[in-house]
Amino acid sequence: MAATSVEASITTDAISIANLTKVYERISGREIVRTYALNGVDLTVRPQEFVSLVGPSGCGKTTVLKVIAGLLGPSTGRVVVNGRPVTGTGTDRGVVFQQPSLLPWRTVRQNIIESLSFAGIPRAQRKPRADKYLELVGLTGFVDHYPGELSGGMQQRVGIARALALEPQVLLMDEPFGALDAITRQHMQAELMRIWSQEKRSVLFVTHSIEEALLLSDRVVVMADGKVRADVDVPIDRPRSRAELINDPAARDLRTRLEELL
Ligand code: ADP
Ligand code: MG
Repeated sequence: MAATSVEASITTDAISIANLTKVYERISGREIVRTYALNGVDLTVRPQEFVSLVGPSGCGKTTVLKVIAGLLGPSTGRVVVNGRPVTGTGTDRGVVFQQPSLLPWRTVRQNIIESLSFAGIPRAQRKPRADKYLELVGLTGFVDHYPGELSGGMQQRVGIARALALEPQVLLMDEPFGALDAITRQHMQAELMRIWSQEKRSVLFVTHSIEEALLLSDRVVVMADGKVRADVDVPIDRPRSRAELINDPAARDLRTRLEELL
């Protein structure tokens, strides 16, 4: 039956967004100023798929992510995560922003434990889980350090561990490496690929960088003016290297195509 197969395809997508709009309203003097941030976004992320969202500043990338995270309500449209309509935040979605916003008076391990506690994870599971994911991001030697004692890259790794520790099906990352220097950024991209290959999740990854998107993603979604402008597959074998992206003709063509779309 057609109805059943449509239903099935909806419920098997990790993220399914249809005709999403978002209007921000702000009072300025006696007027209401409206910003049409999203003008009908359609987007799908399949289980275990890594999708990058690229586009110029102000095109609505963060707004899309916040609506999926349940931090913002949509004006119209529908957002479904693993078959369930999004009505607020939840532990099925882990979020990583540009700044990790760690609690400075708590150690690295305590930061993760606190977040697990807030998410309602039973007490007995919190420390083992914190240690497991801190190991995964390579911070086992720093669990008792305070955030102020870590470099920016290490703090961001704590942020990633905190999101992973919720064991969400979906990981939402908004320019997570945007505040890092170039070398640390390259290192973190490699780390993220290693983690993702070990712990496959569905990832929606916002970035300004086409190179970063090509290095990491199965698919690149290009946004402009609050809409999806293009949806491009990245059929390059993994593991990928920066050199390969530069030297491989197919990868070069893909990069040119994406640059023209931006
Ligand atoms: P991006 O992440 O792609 O840079 P955003 O989603 O942050 O874009 O913003 C999309 C549009 O919505 C921009 O025009 C921005 O100025 C506007 N906007 C974002 N957040 C707010 C807000 N809280 N109030 C009003 N306008 C906003
Ligand atoms: Mg943004």
